[in-house]
Amino acid sequence: ALMTGEQYIESMRKKNLQVYMFGKKVPCPADDPILRPSMNSVRMTYDLAQQPEYQDLMTAISPYTGERVNRFTHIHQSTTDLMNKVKMQRLCGQKTASCFQRCVGMDAFNAVFSTTYDTDKKYGTKYHENFMKFLKRVQMEDLTVDGAMTDPKGDRGLAPHAQADPDLYLHVVERRPDGIVVRGAKAHQTGFINSHEVIVMPTISMGEDDKDYAVCFSCSTDAEGIFMIVGRQSCDTRKMEGAPMDTGNPEFGGTEALVIFDNVFIPNENIYLNGEYEFAGVLVERFAGYHRQSYGGCKVGVGDVLIGAAAVAADYNGCPKASHIKDKIIEMQHLNETLYACGIACSALGTKTESGNYLIDLLLANVCKQNVTRFPYEIVRLAEDIAGGLMVTAPSEKDLRDPKIGPYIDKYLRGVNNVSTENRLKILRLIENLSLGTAAVGYRTESMHGAGSPQAQRIMISRQGNLRMKKALAKAIAHIEE
Ligand code: SF4
Ligand code: FE
Repeated sequence: ALMTGEQYIESMRKKNLQVYMFGKKVPCPADDPILRPSMNSVRMTYDLAQQPEYQDLMTAISPYTGERVNRFTHIHQSTTDLMNKVKMQRLCGQKTASCFQRCVGMDAFNAVFSTTYDTDKKYGTKYHENFMKFLKRVQMEDLTVDGAMTDPKGDRGLAPHAQADPDLYLHVVERRPDGIVVRGAKAHQTGFINSHEVIVMPTISMGEDDKDYAVCFSCSTDAEGIFMIVGRQSCDTRKMEGAPMDTGNPEFGGTEALVIFDNVFIPNENIYLNGEYEFAGVLVERFAGYHRQSYGGCKVGVGDVLIGAAAVAADYNGCPKASHIKDKIIEMQHLNETLYACGIACSALGTKTESGNYLIDLLLANVCKQNVTRFPYEIVRLAEDIAGGLMVTAPSEKDLRDPKIGPYIDKYLRGVNNVSTENRLKILRLIENLSLGTAAVGYRTESMHGAGSPQAQRIMISRQGNLRMKKALAKAIAHIEE
């Protein structure tokens, strides 16, 4: 059954997560002021699914359980499903203005679904059956699952097996009759701390020498041997100061962690790839494709909030009618909708895989993500232009509330007279949050490197672009015979 947001929070409280931050173990991540906003963002994926008006977008009927499931656990059955996924992500971005984290699991489900099918077909393995058992439990219990791909990677010039330290890519260190023992780490793990389970996947294509690294499995996020080290975000400790206004987004946020797998035992039934190295690259390509599609939804939703914030700042500054301001806001919208167009386009041109689910158009998904490495930066630049310097020089909430100096702030930092200084500072703090505060992790640098750095998309574009066909077209038009 679908969980409510409250039930989700309670279910996470029951987990025994080994989370470390600022040199200490976090007793309860759900109650930690730095981490709680990121849990609220995941919670939104549950809360929205409860609302009748969003039911079509946030939920779907699973053909495997016959029941209504959260779309974040769904296997795409059509191009409409693929488009609904992007629309859902835009909605969640609009409601949180941050990373709501649950997409990596959804993208992993769909990549593992088809890849296990293909692997079984070639090797007679039972990976697809194993995965389906896991998936049905995820759907029935409405779990949040992290998708863990990125290894620390050490020397980028060396293959996994050739690293000075063999653990720089996660690998199998022991094979037992009942399962495997794995060791390694996964970096930049969005949402791991707020997930019930994790699907671990390889991070690059692999050769025969990397056999032990070609491994895919799921386990609980509190399995023995797993621990998480929280990554810092710019301005993160503002959340501990008791001045919510200064955070810019007091309720929502994202989170990333370095996750260590220190000899974790994985039973056979939770293994979805184990040594069939030529399928490592297939899995990576599909997962990356789905996640590059994802950014054409989530980043657009966050962009909607930033564009709205810039327009409100212009109102409060008293210059919403200046032609250059109007033009800059049009440009922001043009860039944002271009990203959305790419997300929708790669979905609309998706195709059915042999396993039965739908895969996005890989060329267009990579073009989508390549644009995401650029446009949010320009949108942020325009927002900063419109907002003015006060977004980075405004005094703290505590000064605003101070009986002696507060009235000076209220008097001198007012824009249009009928808007309170407090409201003006609130909107500027939100722009600061998205441009260079905690949310910039998700909106800027993650737009650059998340779902693969820009060069990874360029490699795919060169592979999928069919340049040979284009040369032939030109030769035909020019009447060239060779
Ligand atoms: Fe989802 Fe976007 Fe966060 Fe990735 S960055 S998990 S697609 S919200
Ligand atoms: Fe991401």
